[in-house]
Amino acid sequence: MSASPETPVETPDRSAFPEPSVVVVRNPADDTVVGTVPDMTATEVADLAARLRAAQPAWEALGPEGRKVHLLRWLDWIVDNKEHILGLVHREAGKSWGDAQIELLVAVEVINYYAKNGARFLADETPSPHNVSAITKRLRLIRRPYQLVGIITPWNYPLAMPMMDVPGALMAGAAVMTKPSEVTPLAWAEVVRGWNEEIGAPPVLGLASGLGPTGAAVVDEVDMVQFTGSTATGRRIGVRAAERLIPASLELGGKDAMVVLADADLDRAVDGAVWGGLFNAGQSCIAVERVYVEAPVYDEFVERLVNAVDRIRVGHDAQGSFDADYGAMANEQQMGIVERQVADALERGARALTGGRRLAKGLFFPPTVLVDVDHSMLAMTEETFGPLLPVMKVADEDEAVRLANDSPYGLAGSIWTSDAERGLRVGRRIETGGMNVNNAMTNVFQFPLPMGGWKSSGLGHRFGGAYGIRKYCRQQAFVSERVHLKKEIHWYPNTRRKAQVTDKALRLLGMHDWRRRLGRAAK
Ligand code: NAD
Repeated sequence: MSASPETPVETPDRSAFPEPSVVVVRNPADDTVVGTVPDMTATEVADLAARLRAAQPAWEALGPEGRKVHLLRWLDWIVDNKEHILGLVHREAGKSWGDAQIELLVAVEVINYYAKNGARFLADETPSPHNVSAITKRLRLIRRPYQLVGIITPWNYPLAMPMMDVPGALMAGAAVMTKPSEVTPLAWAEVVRGWNEEIGAPPVLGLASGLGPTGAAVVDEVDMVQFTGSTATGRRIGVRAAERLIPASLELGGKDAMVVLADADLDRAVDGAVWGGLFNAGQSCIAVERVYVEAPVYDEFVERLVNAVDRIRVGHDAQGSFDADYGAMANEQQMGIVERQVADALERGARALTGGRRLAKGLFFPPTVLVDVDHSMLAMTEETFGPLLPVMKVADEDEAVRLANDSPYGLAGSIWTSDAERGLRVGRRIETGGMNVNNAMTNVFQFPLPMGGWKSSGLGHRFGGAYGIRKYCRQQAFVSERVHLKKEIHWYPNTRRKAQVTDKALRLLGMHDWRRRLGRAAK
């Protein structure tokens, strides 16, 4: 569940769950059972790790072009089976059918991007020697994958979350152990089954299903971990990774600010707030979580926003029907966070202009516009992960920037203005890993750009560009001799003569005596 950066995370105690060890997955919209997955023990995770490691060398040996073939076959299989896979996404997360569709889009785009560019991003580099003293050296930077990468993901996008990470790691040549959220593991389990049973791919993609302890066991087995989830769990994983001396890339929570300046196109800003704040019931790390509006347009923006959210249809529509805009909250805990934040805001003097109470049936929360809010309220400071749009009036852009930066989080955000230069200027002042002008959440889908959070929103970058594949590799500095010399000048024995030559060369090349002499002559 989402939590503030300071909240210590409780890893669920395995003994609290009865044998046999399965995780039962329920549709939060109607509480029906959608399926089960094994709750894997640490021993089972270790066995899986051993099998994945055994398969990895042959996978790496295929080279990027060979690996690309399997990734593209997988993509075809996923698209051919999209009704089935998205059906699982739809039911296990209680989403609207429309919101489930974007998950396939991410899968298609990320696989294609890394399949197309993988060979180029992984190619050896041959930089020139840095100065004449190294002129006899041939330099090569070689990228070799970590043998086993662990990818741990949350529940909000059961297919899209692992799909942001797995294609890059597989293209790098690593074997990959995935750990989907226990709340929504079914669609991903099916996609991993597709890799292993349907397309003739080598067994380098594994599924470690289970609760928190299974995730901890993954961190204990892998050579590198990519984690997406709450800041509290991420911090715990970072500590364990440090103990094991393995790299950890962490994508964590957010509290993204939307800044509406007085010269913005208000129609677009309102529609952007609705989509950015409510898509997937607001359960996106990069959702619009708070809105700051410049005073001259505040009243008009709020009025239009309330009208727009009142047209949003909340529900769990039938598969294929597109009768709802957004669906259920993922579980009762997430609903509890939203209710607690609304109650806190109302107690402290905020007003809900629409929404504000959960619907009578199912885990649904209506779109809720809160006004008269300030930074004493949880809804403006803690991650919500729900369909709240708290809107605050600001005097000017300086106040908007100050408030936007008044957060432990720094994932993304947006500026709305008709002046592109102003958007750039204001956006640069906001401390976040992503920024959008006149759009919301779109930075994540620009694959040449890095996606990552600053401050308590993360460590490293998750994906995007060459880094999204190189992060799964170790760099080997490879040096060979261009010319055959009997000896290097600095090899033993030490002599006065050699020291004098070295000193002269150093003064000439490294200390730039010639430049100092020229400087004196010019005076
Ligand atoms: P979570 O941190 O509770 O769980 C995420 C995953 O970690 C799950 O698979 C869980 O089983 C596993 N896990 C739990 N304890 C573990 C441990 N000790 N060691 C290893 N793995 C462990 O997060 P959640 O509630 O599933 O997801 C919601 C959070 O995810 C929100 O805070 C949200 O902001 C964040 N999120 C961030 C991004 C991003 O890209 N920045 C994207 C989506 C969600």
